[in-house]
Parts: sequence; C-alpha cells; structure tokens
Amino acid sequence: MDRNFLDQLRQQTSLRDLIGRYVQWDRKKSEEGRGILWACCPFHQEKSASFKVDVGRGQYYCFGCHKKGDAISFLQDRDGLGFVEAVRQLADMAGLAIPETDLPKGPDSRPLYRAMDVAQEFFVAQLKGSEGVQARSYLVRQRGLSPDDAKHFGIGFAPNSWDMLVGALEKSGVSMADAEAVGLVSKSDRGQGYYSRFRGRVMFPIHDARGRLVAFGGRLLEGEGAKYYNSTETAIFSKKKTLYNLHQARTQGRKDDPMIVVEGYMDCVALHKAGFGRVVAPMGTAMNEEHLQELWKYNSEPVVCLDGDKAGLNAADRLVAMALPLVRHDKTLQFITLPDGLDPDDYIKHQGRDAFSSLLSEAQPLAD
Ligand SMILES: [Zn+2]
Repeated sequence: MDRNFLDQLRQQTSLRDLIGRYVQWDRKKSEEGRGILWACCPFHQEKSASFKVDVGRGQYYCFGCHKKGDAISFLQDRDGLGFVEAVRQLADMAGLAIPETDLPKGPDSRPLYRAMDVAQEFFVAQLKGSEGVQARSYLVRQRGLSPDDAKHFGIGFAPNSWDMLVGALEKSGVSMADAEAVGLVSKSDRGQGYYSRFRGRVMFPIHDARGRLVAFGGRLLEGEGAKYYNSTETAIFSKKKTLYNLHQARTQGRKDDPMIVVEGYMDCVALHKAGFGRVVAPMGTAMNEEHLQELWKYNSEPVVCLDGDKAGLNAADRLVAMALPLVRHDKTLQFITLPDGLDPDDYIKHQGRDAFSSLLSEAQPLAD
C-alpha cells in the first residue's frame, strides 16, 4: 500500500479514541498533558494498568504481554482483521478514501452485507406487523421474552410466504444474485423467479465479532420442516468461525465476568433474559479451535455450559481433548454441568437465577 497514505491514516487516527473503545483509561497513572495514557491491557487479563499508549507517536506497548504497534496492528490483533481490512476500517473512521490502486482485486462483499441488512429490516417489521401475531405470542408466552429482549437480539419473523421477502429485497434494489449468494433466496425450479428460503420462522440475526450481520437462524413456528434452519455457508458466513452473540457479549457485564458458552441461540437468549449477558453459542457445530481463540481474545477463562446427558458429556470429552494442547495460564476453560435433560432456560425456570450463579461460581477448571 501507498506509504504516504498509510502515514496520513496513522496521523489522522487518534489512539485515544480507537483504543478508548476497548479500555478504561487509568486516569491516575495517565499523563494527559503529555499524551501518555495507561489502561489495563486489552490483550491479556490484568488488574493494574501496564498498557501504555503514546497518543502523539501513535504507538502502544504492553509491559505485561509485550504487545506493541500502531492503530493498524491494534485492529489486526484486537479484532483478528487482515491488514487491508484494518486499513479499510481506519480509513472509514477517519473519512479517508483508500487510493484506488491499493484496493485488493477480490470481490466486493458490501452488496452482500447490504442484502442481509435489508432482509433484517424486513423480518423485524414483519414481527411487529399483522403477520407476526403468532410469532410474538410464541416469544412472549412460550419463551417469556419482553419486547426489549427481542430488540436486543434483533429477533424478527419470516412470514410463511414464498415471495414476500423477494419483493422487499427487490424493492430496495438488492439483486437476486446477491440475495442468493447470502442464502436468503433460491432460484425456483419452475420458471425464472426466486423464493425465500426462510418461511414461517422466528428469525435470529447472526453477527460476526465486529457486529456485521452475516447469517440468520430460523426457528420453525409450526408445521412441518426442520425445527432450526440456519443460513448456509457463504462468502461472509463461516459456521466454524462464528459464535452467536459474541459481538454483544463482549461488551456486556464486567470484563472479568466469565464468558459463558451454551449450545444454541435460544439458550443465549434465555441466559441474557436472566441477567447473564456474557453468553455465546456455536452455530450448530461443536466448539473448535477457531472458536476458542476468538473467545480467548475477550476472556481468559470462558465457562462451557454442558448438558448432563450422555451426548453432552461426550461432546465435553472431545472439547477437552481439542483444548488441552492450546491451554496456557491465561487461556483456559471451565465447565459447568446442568442436570440431565435440562437446558439453561429450564434450569433457571426451575432453580432460579441464583442457583445458576452458584453453578457458575463452582465451575470446574479444565485441569480437573
Ligand atoms: Zn498485555
């Protein structure tokens, strides 16, 4: 990339603003006047500030874990971005245009994200409208969710219609090729039209760690079909890299509260409702190494919440075998086991939220 452009970008990016989104500055230790700021390190867990930012020079250094660099490397390390993606984000924030010649030749995924956003707007509007009566009643009566809970998770409804979503996408100028590429619609076998792949389902938007909408999970309301249906793998969605709710969980609660890993998005919603906001779930796959590395960016000791049944315990054995070689003093796991047959929602309904809290506080470390 063009050196002058990168220098300009670094100059126009304030590390005070950028890093300030992720840390709480230690006012006492910082020397505001000299542009020297201190905070607890966003890359490793600590109680006192050893992460130093030199605002004027645009550099940071951690005396604990020795991470260092500038605005670009900060985004690369913190959010796991590639160099170009980090530059793109900083340029957006600074209102600078990246020189044309520097843009990678790869496909532009912005129209794909736009297709997802238009669909999300449609699903949310449907949940609120006349088509959504039954879905609303399901969420409130059977799941005990308030409108605020539904809003927090962006829950929507895909009406039981083959073409309403198609119409809404077309009206907003989304091309059917893009909508198909993100798994929203499929080409009809008869004729030339497209049809919606999500019908009669309560819709859960799924975001990447940066908060971009990348997929949907649909829970069947009634009738025949798979109970849960998720977006297929697409250019913007990889199941094995995605943890449901991570983009929100990482900012919820206190930084030292453990991140809780549950089985599915319904469990996430249930725990959030009970006041445990730092909760994530894999997308219908077992936890893998990429999931763990992603979690460890935000929490050194996540708690995996297991089903007490045989399948749950087998899954735990596989997870332990996978995690053991990766574990370090500041990257480990804990486990809690729910009584046989209870999911987190049932457990809290029967035993109360305090009981779940004490389960958490007695979580078993991986070493045991
Ligand atoms: Zn550090």
